[in-house]
Amino acid sequence: MDKDLELVYSIFKIRLLALLGFVPKIDACSICDKKMTEDMDKFYFSIKDDGIKCADCAKLDKGIVHLNKTSFLALIYILSCDAKKLYSFEVPEDSIAEISLLSRLYTNQKLEKEYEVNKI
Ligand SMILES: [Zn+2]
Repeated sequence: MDKDLELVYSIFKIRLLALLGFVPKIDACSICDKKMTEDMDKFYFSIKDDGIKCADCAKLDKGIVHLNKTSFLALIYILSCDAKKLYSFEVPEDSIAEISLLSRLYTNQKLEKEYEVNKI
């Protein structure tokens, strides 16, 4: 898939899930509540626990998507910016790859859950 299109598609999925009520926790670790800070350069997104984890908590999680700082800041932007400005940013290819992976796994996990609920 074209890289720009892949980014647009990933942004769309993350924002759509947020609109549906699936808003991941990104300001602090989803387990121990340690705050994320500006000087950090590696971030860990837990698919099963819906949010960012600190390095210590991430060690125990097999469903981690690694994010560099650019990807993490892009994720904050995607979840919080004005809808009209949603697609108005660019990131390097390594961040597109990370955001794309995150959006794919996160969407799969959320839709799978929805499906299980509907089966009952
Ligand atoms: Zn933690």
